[in-house]
Amino acid sequence: MRYVSTRGRAPVLGFEEAMLTGLARDGGLYVPETIPSMSHAEIAALAGLGYEEAAFEVMRPFLGESFSDGEFRDIIARAYRGFGHPARAPLVQLGANHFLLELFHGPTLAFKDFAMQLIGQLFQAALARRGQRVTIVGATSGDTGSAAIEAFRGLDNVDVFILFPEGRVSDVQRRQMTTPSEANVHALALRGDFDDCQARLKDMFNDFAFRDEVRLAGVNSINWARVLAQVVYYFTAAVSLGAPHREIDFTVPTGNFGDIFAGYIARRMGLPIGRLVIATNLNDILHRALETGIYETRGVKPSISPSMDIQVSSNFERALFDALGREGEAVAQLMDELKATGRFTIPQGALEALREVFASGRASEEETTATIRRLYESTGQILCPHSAVGAKVALEHLRAPVPMVSLATAHPAKFPDAVEAATGIRPPLPGRMADLHECKERVSEVENDLAALQALIRERIAR
Ligand SMILES: *Cc1c(COP(=O)(O)O)cnc(C)c1O
Repeated sequence: MRYVSTRGRAPVLGFEEAMLTGLARDGGLYVPETIPSMSHAEIAALAGLGYEEAAFEVMRPFLGESFSDGEFRDIIARAYRGFGHPARAPLVQLGANHFLLELFHGPTLAFKDFAMQLIGQLFQAALARRGQRVTIVGATSGDTGSAAIEAFRGLDNVDVFILFPEGRVSDVQRRQMTTPSEANVHALALRGDFDDCQARLKDMFNDFAFRDEVRLAGVNSINWARVLAQVVYYFTAAVSLGAPHREIDFTVPTGNFGDIFAGYIARRMGLPIGRLVIATNLNDILHRALETGIYETRGVKPSISPSMDIQVSSNFERALFDALGREGEAVAQLMDELKATGRFTIPQGALEALREVFASGRASEEETTATIRRLYESTGQILCPHSAVGAKVALEHLRAPVPMVSLATAHPAKFPDAVEAATGIRPPLPGRMADLHECKERVSEVENDLAALQALIRERIAR
């Protein structure tokens, strides 16, 4: 299995190299050269398998020769053993055709754990075999950072640095990043918003001398291995609702387009997904892009669903690459235009291709709160604000008898203020993490400045 860059000018890599590299050297994102497909019978055979077994079947074709079957099975087992639910990704029914896929039973209570726990184990195995050490730098709007720190804390061959926008993550999110005491964990509060964090991260990757000097590795959702891990739960959810014998729709609360792009890959592999519905909060660049054909960034507005407060949606580039007939040059031109002018127009053919698969909607702050309240009153389920954005948009896109699955991306206890405002109930943290508010915090404040960040990283890894 070979991986190519969406901008067509970076070396073609195998799975392991693409994973360890993260961002391609031409600024693009790695995607498989061809998408493996699963037959009707192979998909049907997933019914009745445990999550880990299904994960093995779905992901195996993407790995090539990088890991043996036995090694990969062990990696998957270690990745998901810390989850607080035996199904890993249970489905609950909200209405006649509406289901909630609970992706928040991992160690940091957000869906990011599905990918990050797996990638932590994959890195550990690959680096130990190679006798290498890497520096992981990630940018987070809250949940990626805590999931990355949880997955990499205490591992032998990695330092992990996480940039988060100061004052813009929830208390629980911040504490999950600042309380681990392992020496290889470095939480950095950056004076700026999430797009600043992501921009500085990209700058570091584009500074090749620095990148090679510290052996930079990326675990943001631009990392292909993360997308791959998320493909699995589309299969397990769809199969438990009757796929491949029946079509299933999904609605995904979206920021960086990683989670929903995983659904797109599942569809390309042959899973009968009808529509993939993009749900955005008031930071609605993706909804506007699909409606108008113009992808245009506007400043990030803080919301009660902060993990989706994003205006440059990195993984959209992967969908665009396919929609443009896999012409790297065309993608590179649009991305250059975006960098220079803050916008580009999606060519008509590509827009039509995207609209065949994706629908979209947005939820205002008031609509999000009202949805949390309404679903609590009608079903007893308490949703986090991100999941509520998804549910609101899903309800607008129901088309019976096709089942609609809304992805629930975080546990409500991660965003207790928004949930309490909507329902009057302050959801408690699960017992296994109840001491979070007592642990001591450790964090470095940093300016939104590339040179300062690089100096800090050099100094810390020299210890
Ligand atoms: C990261 C995150 C999202 C957005 O996911 P993307 O893959 O960036 O689209 C939505 N909800 C929660 C809770 C998240 O942590």
